[in-house]
Amino acid sequence: MIAYIILIVVVAVLLVGVGGSMLLRPRGMHGIRRGRARELDLSGSTPQAGDDTSSTGSGTATATATAPPAQRPVEPEAPPKPTLEKPPPSAGRMVRLRARLARSQSGFGVALLGLLSRDRLDDDTWDEIEEVLITADVGVTPARQITSDLRTKVKVEGTRTPEEVRAMLRSELLAQVETEATRALHTQRHEGHPAVLLMVGVNGTGKTTTCGKLARSLVGDGQTVVLGAADTFRAAAADQLQTWGERVGAQVIRSDKEQADPASVAFDAVSAGIEQEADVVLIDTAGRLHTKNDLMDELGKVKRVVEKRTAVDEVLLVLDATTGQNGLRQARVFAEVVDVTGIVLTKLDGTAKGGIVIAVQRELGVPVKLVGLGEGPDDLAPFDPVTFVDAILGD
Ligand code: GDP
Repeated sequence: MIAYIILIVVVAVLLVGVGGSMLLRPRGMHGIRRGRARELDLSGSTPQAGDDTSSTGSGTATATATAPPAQRPVEPEAPPKPTLEKPPPSAGRMVRLRARLARSQSGFGVALLGLLSRDRLDDDTWDEIEEVLITADVGVTPARQITSDLRTKVKVEGTRTPEEVRAMLRSELLAQVETEATRALHTQRHEGHPAVLLMVGVNGTGKTTTCGKLARSLVGDGQTVVLGAADTFRAAAADQLQTWGERVGAQVIRSDKEQADPASVAFDAVSAGIEQEADVVLIDTAGRLHTKNDLMDELGKVKRVVEKRTAVDEVLLVLDATTGQNGLRQARVFAEVVDVTGIVLTKLDGTAKGGIVIAVQRELGVPVKLVGLGEGPDDLAPFDPVTFVDAILGD
């Protein structure tokens, strides 16, 4: 009996123990959960902080992401960046570009030096010398005269060292290239008005390009320029000129209408130049050579209309130096139509033979004032006879 009682007591004690431990366990787990929950809360707060950061970040990202839509409408209104170029002054350009000249002319000068240095200068050699000059576009009459002058000098001087031959040829070529007329361009304001320059020539010779290059060069020399896009027949000419003008801050006067009256564009350009007190107004014209009468009518009208406001200071004839005799024919027609005051020989860097300088000056009786020596924006130079002749001789 006692054993039963002891057994019951033991069982009861065990039951109480197990129950107590069962009651205690859930409390501990709950604590851990809360701890975990707290950790989760904390970890939840970390992301919150992170959220803040990331929200700041994403806010920024959003701002960035949303910025474009916000900025998008603004973008087109933003003013175009002023990217005005500062062109170099015109002085010394021909010397800088001399290598190009020498490249295109070398055949002519070197061939003459070779012939003149022969031991015996017989009739055949003199014929060859004349031929070289004619082939170099010097023209028949000047070629004969140069040959005859050289022949006389050789006779008089007798001996011919290579230096003497070179000096003799140099002085002869210089005499042919130099003119009494000034090569300086009239680009100074006078009587309170800008200087006005008309650019004339057959399309394709480089007229519009030369207008642009010249505007650059004048700006480089510190002058203010207005450009008149009076070549209204070639659709791209006005755009071309506008691009040139925008690069250096020269205003371009053009018509919105296709095939507008060139004279009215020229008039507007000169009026703008006068109003703005510009130094120079440069007018590009159309060079259609259908008939001489058309050309005369058109250029005559442009000139007359401009002269209602102010004098035309220069009429520059642009000739492509690579076209040789054809170029000379064009020069003749233009000279009959308008008073050309100066010649611009373009593409003298190409396959031009150089003798055209002598031929065209003689033909028109006006000096070559500018030469184009490449397609680059600053490849236009005031013509300098000494640099030219030295380049021909390969000095
Ligand atoms: P326009 O029709 O007379 O106005 O001729 P453009 O001005 O449009 O020029 C015709 C082409 O000649 C263009 O490709 C020019 O870049 C090129 N050109 C103009 N001047 C020169 C030059 O001095 N040297 C070379 N190599 N090309 C030139």
